[in-house]
Amino acid sequence: MSMPVSPAALPPGAVLGIVGGGQLGRMSAVAAARLGYRAHILTDEPDGPAAQVAHAVTIGAYDDPDALRRFAMAVDVVTFEFENVSADGLELLAALRPVRPSGHILRISQDRVAEKRFLTEAGIPVAPWREIRSLDDLSSARTELGLPFILKTTRLGYDGKGQSRIHRDADMPAAFDSLAPHPLVAEGMVDFACEVSVMVARGLDGTAVTFDVTENRHRNGILDLSLAPARVPETVRDDARAIALRIATALDLVGLLGVEMFVDRNGQVLVNEIAPRPHNSGHWTMDACPVDQFAMHVRAVAGLPLPPAVRHSDAVMKNLVGPDDMALWPAILATPGLLPHHYGKTEARPGRKMGHVNVLFPPGALPGEFGVDAALGPLAEDRGKPA
Ligand code: AMP
Repeated sequence: MSMPVSPAALPPGAVLGIVGGGQLGRMSAVAAARLGYRAHILTDEPDGPAAQVAHAVTIGAYDDPDALRRFAMAVDVVTFEFENVSADGLELLAALRPVRPSGHILRISQDRVAEKRFLTEAGIPVAPWREIRSLDDLSSARTELGLPFILKTTRLGYDGKGQSRIHRDADMPAAFDSLAPHPLVAEGMVDFACEVSVMVARGLDGTAVTFDVTENRHRNGILDLSLAPARVPETVRDDARAIALRIATALDLVGLLGVEMFVDRNGQVLVNEIAPRPHNSGHWTMDACPVDQFAMHVRAVAGLPLPPAVRHSDAVMKNLVGPDDMALWPAILATPGLLPHHYGKTEARPGRKMGHVNVLFPPGALPGEFGVDAALGPLAEDRGKPA
């Protein structure tokens, strides 16, 4: 059955404005070009990953009204590769051009309290949480959540930064003082069996699709490996996808959204956080799906029909982080079966995401631990070392 193209869809040649100049913008810009669009990037990095592949670039700070205005006037629609645009900036953009996903969704995802409140009100399962404004709040949370628990900043936390694990009462004052800005969020510690994520896209007409559930492993607080499909029971996969769809509908999403979740020891799915943009854990789709997360992102934002988010292969994605992994780049290129993606960053600082590698397997043939390690070739030897 063919899918009608809405009259509201952007025609080829239209300009997709992307706020943010990193690798997610780079891969979105490439996907946009493939569909005949031109990507225009707003970034403070003239030679960053996205700027290198874009049709045009506005250089400026994300809170500079003049830069935001110039950017908006040069594009047909605005989307994001990162969430941390000021409320004033979002308003300015929305006054000039369609912004997809909407500023309302970005504001929820920017603030863990707003995010947890939204999820709780939408009936989405999350770990027990408390907003923390004072040491008194913290000691009540300790009583209600029990030890250990996690204290997190509400804004600008990513890759495990901005959080502290509270194991003893004596840890509380120092953790409260060291995390900023306040308020903070206290979260019950989830004894998870694994971490998973789902990428969901929703179009202008309300059609929504989810990619297969991904299993994620972190190292030093940074995503290390993603495996698709996640090795969890079918019922857990169904729950995770249904939750992602419910979130997309409740937000009235237009665009792409990553939902990070925990699967606890009882097989219950709990949402950790949402990111209204392409997500690192969806990079396996670039080689394992006919329409990957970036193409789906561009299609949703441009008002195009969304095809099914099908997968033709099982896949493992390994992030290339910092100088140690990048020292293996020549060996990666020389290894058949490793599908490399380089982000064009010149300096490989420790902890910096420099690229990723996908490995494909026939459907149903995703191997166990040793097989994954073997398939990663030169990267397997690296896995025991600190990043
Ligand atoms: P976040 O900054 O919320 O994405 O958290 C980073 C990582 O910390 C997650 O991917 C988990 O591995 C771990 N983590 C975060 N929150 C919890 C929690 N409530 N219980 C257990 N682990 C957590």
